[in-house]
Amino acid sequence: MKPVGKPGKTGSLMAVEVALARLLEMADASKIREHERLPLAQVQGRVLAADLVSTLDLPPWPNSAMDGYALNLADWTGQPLVVSQKIFAGQAPEPLKPGTCARIFTGAPVPAGADCVEMQENAEVQADERVRFTETMNPGQNIRPQGQETTVGELILPVGTRLGAIEQGLAASLGCAELDVVRKVRVAVLSTGDELIEPGLALGPGQIYNSNRVLLCSWLQRLGCEVIDAGILPDDLATTRARLGELKDVDLILSTGGVSVGEADFLGIALREEGELTLWKLAIKPGKPLTFGHFRGVPVIGLPGNPASTLVTFALLARPYLLRRQGVKEVEPLKFQVPAGFVWPKAGNRREYLRGRLENGRAIIYGNQSSGVLRSAAWADGLVEVLEDRTLIEGDWVSFIPLSEVLS
Ligand code: AMP
Ligand code: MG
Repeated sequence: MKPVGKPGKTGSLMAVEVALARLLEMADASKIREHERLPLAQVQGRVLAADLVSTLDLPPWPNSAMDGYALNLADWTGQPLVVSQKIFAGQAPEPLKPGTCARIFTGAPVPAGADCVEMQENAEVQADERVRFTETMNPGQNIRPQGQETTVGELILPVGTRLGAIEQGLAASLGCAELDVVRKVRVAVLSTGDELIEPGLALGPGQIYNSNRVLLCSWLQRLGCEVIDAGILPDDLATTRARLGELKDVDLILSTGGVSVGEADFLGIALREEGELTLWKLAIKPGKPLTFGHFRGVPVIGLPGNPASTLVTFALLARPYLLRRQGVKEVEPLKFQVPAGFVWPKAGNRREYLRGRLENGRAIIYGNQSSGVLRSAAWADGLVEVLEDRTLIEGDWVSFIPLSEVLS
């Protein structure tokens, strides 16, 4: 096995982390400031615009973690105790009468004066209805103390938190019916290429169906973006210029195709003429060519057109950029180390993101890793990262990024 390639050392190619750092810097500089207040049920995938601070102790009072009996340990001499009250969840108890116990159920407030709850399995109800406890008991047992989860004034979710089912549940537990979220990022999606037609139409000579459009539109929706579907852009400078010019009121133009320095690179020409253009050659495979620029002040990211390249560069570069524009701090997907279940005999000068799966705790990869083969990603449940200048034998450690991490 060759040593791991040093980050940034990829010849004339730009390392993935360098490109990401630059994109994030630009995202930071154009952070979306507007926000809106939404009902809790509608915040899925959105980003919190203000700190969520607890206005409650949670739980608001000590409550029972068990179905059983609440008592004051000082009253327990080994003699059975009379049951003086029954407390269900949702009820307000009386203070515990000295020398007695209270029947109590899970979630019910522990009465003042009780310092312990014994579970019903360790209690025997006698013929006279008094209760005998069969095990040793300790103070505080089976009582969830007031404020065990949160206390008033505590920061629960900081601004910039991406909201999902768990955060929604947490906000609900604190009584929040609405949350302030960053307004949606407006993303215009453009597919470039004379060869593209939409599914549903008959294929003509030389044509292929546009797969990137629906892939990106649907992905962006899952990410909580407002999608402006700007259709297919023919490989023609005048149309490119005109179409870009129509997309004024958006936060990002996201295009696919036309970025390999071919003759049909009209996106690049239009950006150079009426904005700025940075062409990156990234040390990433699939997805080497990536364009970043502005057209009349609107940021543009041009992803390579091959569907697997679109997928990988969107997941690793455009998605973090979009999250950062909304103020999310941790934008890189979780990855973890797994042993390789394949061999990688030939080291490359680009970092490879192979479409792979976990099988018996090892990463295996799809047979055809061509950047044009989207089926590889449908088969996969993650991206297997093979670093630059690296060969692998079975059992070597590789990083695995679950697709579930990047798809939402
Ligand atoms: P380009 O970057 O325009 O040279 O495109 C690279 C490859 O990706 C070519 O084979 C294109 O036909 C293909 N391609 C570009 N855009 C799309 C798309 N939206 N859907 C499917 N394939 C595409
Ligand atoms: Mg093209």
